[in-house]
Amino acid sequence: MKDSKMNIPFFPYSELYESDKENFNRIFEDVCSRGAYILQKDLEEFENDLKDFLNVKYVYGVANGTDALILGLKATGLSAGDEVIMPSHTYIASPASVHLVGGIPILAECGQDGMLDIEDIEHRITDKTKAIMPVHINGRTCKMDKIEEIAKKYELKIVEDAAQGLGSKFRDKCAGTFGAFGTISFYPAKLLGCFGDGGLIMTNDSAISEKISLLRDHGRNEEGKVIAWGYNSRLDNLQAAILKFKLSKYESEIKHRRSIAELYHNGLKDIDALKLPEPPTDGDHFDVYQNYELRAKNREGLREFLTNKGIGTIIQWAGTPVHKFSDLGFDQSLEKTEDFFKECFMIPMNFAVKEAEANYIVDSIKEFYE
Ligand SMILES: *Cc1c(COP(=O)(O)O)cnc(C)c1O
Repeated sequence: MKDSKMNIPFFPYSELYESDKENFNRIFEDVCSRGAYILQKDLEEFENDLKDFLNVKYVYGVANGTDALILGLKATGLSAGDEVIMPSHTYIASPASVHLVGGIPILAECGQDGMLDIEDIEHRITDKTKAIMPVHINGRTCKMDKIEEIAKKYELKIVEDAAQGLGSKFRDKCAGTFGAFGTISFYPAKLLGCFGDGGLIMTNDSAISEKISLLRDHGRNEEGKVIAWGYNSRLDNLQAAILKFKLSKYESEIKHRRSIAELYHNGLKDIDALKLPEPPTDGDHFDVYQNYELRAKNREGLREFLTNKGIGTIIQWAGTPVHKFSDLGFDQSLEKTEDFFKECFMIPMNFAVKEAEANYIVDSIKEFYE
């Protein structure tokens, strides 16, 4: 190999701060010296910027992406016994949110692209089904035309887990803005990561918006009067100030991720042992590459080889799709999803991956299969 050994962690947590330290310190000092911690102007400004960015009417910063789902489902009126269809290839937070509001998560297959398998939705619909929860995984928006068609036919709601999809689009419409509501996570390793937990709910529905506004702040209305039962689930003003700053640079972040995805695609597309995600295109899908999840023959051998090369890789959800959590009562087999999980893993894809590092990763994978 021409390159000497590099050290490329799967996600460089300390770089999140180090990469723009002066600005973050300035924001910290500004917000804290104003004593502006909870529900202050920085949060409101961030929410307004997001409305423009997402082209959506209402946006609420909440404590994390999981709360976003729970509050959204509550505001949408999901109640005991209601069934929600979602892919098994998702984070435990998606089914947990349904369970925690009394509903029943119904797990479906993922397709070749890792997204909710459109062909596996309809036969899972019963008279208890209330909603479909597409999960816009890895920064790609699901085929929303197909999901909207099914939802319309059976009079189901669409509730979107867009935790991994900030700014991803299907036919020029942002992930999270198709259904009753959509959610985003600001977990540090997410597309727009803060220094802790954070999340957001978006909706175009004024009734749902009003309920979320109450639910996230103890049921208090604008005059501070308690008019409903609520939670404490507000995005910290300090996190919001940092996120507002990061959002102003987010377009170039997406560009960066798309260029790394293109580099991976061009470098790896001729290796028969691999199945790659779609490369960036100007077609129906505008992908923002939260992750670069690929499938590989002899995955474990490849991962070990890459580890020795100093390259961090992980398998999403630690390798376990939701339907395999038998302690939660799931007892189901999903063949396509299980096949997917025999081969899937992720290579570094984040703000810090440099072109030279991406080339080194490509060369290392090529070397393994030669
Ligand atoms: C990260 C994530 C969540 C939860 O977000 P938190 O902010 O960690 O609570 C939900 N769904 C998916 C698909 C995620 O990737």
